Parts: sequence; C-alpha cells; structure tokens
Amino acid sequence: MEAHGGTGASAAAADDIADDVADEIIETLRRWVDEVVVPESSALELADEYPTAMASQMEDFGLFGATIPESHGGLDLDHVTYARVIEELSRGWMSLAGIVNSHLICAKLIDRFGTDDQRNRSLPGMATGKLRGCFSLSEPDSGSDAGALRCRAVRDGDEFVINGTKMWVTNGERAGVVALLARVPEGDPSGSSGITCFLVDKTPGKHSGGITVSRKIDKIGYRGLETVEMSYVDHRVPADRVLGGDGLTDAASRGGGDGAGHGGGIGNGLRWALAALELGRINVAARGVGVAQAAYDAAVAYAKEREAFGKPIAKHQAIAFKIAEMATKLHAARLMTYDAARKADAGERVDLAAGMAKLFASETAAELSLDAMRIHGGNGFSTEYPVERYYRDAPLMIIGEGTSEIQKLVISRALLADD
Ligand SMILES: Cc1cc2nc3c(=O)[nH]c(=O)nc-3n(C[C@H](O)[C@H](O)[C@H](O)COP(=O)(O)OP(=O)(O)OC[C@H]3O[C@@H](n4cnc5c(N)ncnc54)[C@H](O)[C@@H]3O)c2cc1C
Repeated sequence: MEAHGGTGASAAAADDIADDVADEIIETLRRWVDEVVVPESSALELADEYPTAMASQMEDFGLFGATIPESHGGLDLDHVTYARVIEELSRGWMSLAGIVNSHLICAKLIDRFGTDDQRNRSLPGMATGKLRGCFSLSEPDSGSDAGALRCRAVRDGDEFVINGTKMWVTNGERAGVVALLARVPEGDPSGSSGITCFLVDKTPGKHSGGITVSRKIDKIGYRGLETVEMSYVDHRVPADRVLGGDGLTDAASRGGGDGAGHGGGIGNGLRWALAALELGRINVAARGVGVAQAAYDAAVAYAKEREAFGKPIAKHQAIAFKIAEMATKLHAARLMTYDAARKADAGERVDLAAGMAKLFASETAAELSLDAMRIHGGNGFSTEYPVERYYRDAPLMIIGEGTSEIQKLVISRALLADD
C-alpha cells in the first residue's frame, strides 16, 4: 500500500490480515490497475464505453468467482480479501467493482439459499464470468422501502407469470440470470405468499421472452457499465426457478432455503435479499476506501508539485492539515471495512459493523473526492485530471445498497434493540 501513497498505518492494517495467497492476488491486481486501468479508464468512462478488455482480464483473474465456493469453480475468497480486491479495483475505476458486485450478490443468494439443482446449474458458469448475474429489487416507486415493491408473480400450473417494471438494474442487459424480487399473491397453492426471489434465465441483450430492457439510464458517474430499467410482460418462469424451491415438490426444494424448515422460498425473498446485501455493503464500503485512496493519492501528488506563493502548496499549513485529515478519515474507513469483513469471516452477524463501515466509508469517499478537487484548484474541475471522476462516482456509494439514512436506521435499530 505504501507504494501507492498509502497512509502508513493502513499498510499495517492490511498486513495483519494478509496471508500469502491473498497478498499475491492483491499484488497482481495492483500491478494491473496501475499499468492498465489507471491510464485507460478516464477515456472509457467519459465515453460511457463498456470496458470489454478489462472485464475479460477480470474473468482471467477469476474475479467473477471471487466469493463463489471452489466446489463450483470459484476462488472462495474470504471477505477481507474480497474487500481488498474491491478496494484495488475501485482505486483504478469504481465501475469495475460494480461489474462484479451485483453478479456476486446474485451468486451469494443462489449459494446460500438455492437448491442443489440451482447451485449446480448457475454457479459454475457464473464463476467463470461466462454467465453473468444481476440483482433486481428496486422499482420506479420503491427503493429504500423495498417491501412496497409491485412486480407480481402469479402461479399458472408449473410456471409463474411475471409482470412489472424494475428500475436501476446494474448489469441487467449483459446478465444471463436475474435474481428478481417479485410478489406472489395470497392464495398460492404452496400455502405461502409474499415477496419471493426468482432466478430468471434470460438471453443477454435487450429482449428475451417477455423481458425488455426498456431504458438505459444516463448517469453522472459509475459510467461504462449499464444500469437499466427492465419491463416484464407476461414473462413465464418455471416454478423450479423459485430460489430455494417452490415448496410443493421435494425434488424442487432439495438442498434449498436457509435450513429453517420453511418448505421453500415463496415469501422468503426479501429476508434473503437483505441478508445477501450484507456482502454488497462490504463491497460498497471497500469501494469507498478505494475511491478515497485514489483521491488522497492524487491530492498528495498534486500538493507536492503545485507551487503557489513561492513554495509547493503542501508547505502551506492549510493544505498540509487537509492532507492530515484526509489520511485520518481514510485510515478509519479502511479499518472499519476490514473489521466488518473479519466479522463476516468469523460467521458473526454483520448488520451493525457492515452498516457502520458502509456509512463511514461512503461519506469519507464523498468528502475526500471534494477535498482532492479543492486541492487541485481549477485543474480539479477539468476532465484532464481524474479527481473530477472520483467526485462524480463517490455519491453513488451514499445511495446504493441502502442510503446513508437507511444505514443509520439499521445501525440504530441494532444498538437500541431490546435484549
Ligand atoms: C447507479 C445506481 C445503480 C443501482 N443498481 C441497483 C441494482 O443493481 N439493483 C437494485 O435493485 N437497485 C439498484 N439501485 C437502486 C438503489 O438501491 C436505490 O436507488 C436506493 O436503495 C435508494 O432508493 P430510491 O432511489 O428509491 O430512493 P428513496 O427510497 O425514494 O429515498 C429518497 C430519499 O429518502 C430517504 N429515505 C427513504 N426512507 C427513509 C426513512 N425511512 N428514513 C429516513 N430517510 C429515508 C433516502 O435516504 C433518500 O435520501 C441502483 C441505484 C443507482 C443510483
């Protein structure tokens, strides 16, 4: 980390948790980010062009299988190493972390709650990146209030018929499998009803059966990868694609669910999605650390080089103190992120730690990207320097995977819960 202008103490934090294999992965990734991603990403980002060659290299690194078990062809990285991977990618370009995030949330849902058949069918292809996944919870009228979603899935024999509009689906066009949250109405023969997760198979592209990518959303940052609106009109999904099984046949539900004896996945979708989003929150916290590191590195380099009033601006105490504050916040954000990841590795509940890390790291990234822009003066406002990209990318992290306000709800509920 020192080689990249790390804050010193941060390097010690990483050393603590590193083993040889993890260090090797991070070193390889760091070299690639410095040699390929840093020089090439700004042009791709400004053109809103998908980084095909970079994604293909990420496939070769095995990153699409980062958290998928080895038994299904993945790397099965622990959460700490995964956080370090995401941090490195985001230091180069945050969109690269987005390419794997919703894919791996989809894979986590399948691995943790899917049936044996669902795991065997999707995870090996997802581990290679040849089969891409995405996660589709948000709708035009529901985001934070996910329980208010309207997309409906009505049983018709051995199939469900899906109707509704989904919003903000990152990787939605390229995906071959969608973890889709839809509401099964009361009266379903399974005896259960409510929000359910479906593993919707589709052909990558704009149209597949009753699914249409109805709009590509133009974004101020997090560009290069697609975030789309998707419409479902009478789209038919086999009942065995209910995550965890539909609870009606033994075969469909074998090996599925959370072991709570609920007899299938109908009505369990939202609870399971929120559990899988804990991985997403660690990802977003790590993204925050990566973008904050990039902003910090750029600010330090510029402050040492740029002169005003006869000396480098770093020699003016106002700038030096700003750098000190930036380093302190960056270090705290990194430690909180690794702490949440360590707790997840230990099998502990991480709603509190991941919520705090996501809240702090994302706000830190937003603050540091503005600080770096201030330190760059007029040049910070130009597209010739990368700090303007950090400034445009950072706000997404205070919105996605639960806004900062929702993190405060999660944190305060955990703190104030009755024993
Ligand atoms: C670029 C991008 C990519 C995304 N990718 C995906 C994806 O792949 N899959 C997916 O499902 N979603 C995705 N999202 C959606 C994202 O998760 C939502 O935008 C987010 O959860 C917020 O929901 P919302 O936009 O509906 O805002 P709202 O829920 O309408 O919130 C608006 C404001 O009200 C505040 N608020 C809401 N409820 C409360 C409350 N109870 N107390 C206090 N304040 C509150 C919020 O914090 C926010 O400030 C993406 C979003 C973006 C911008």
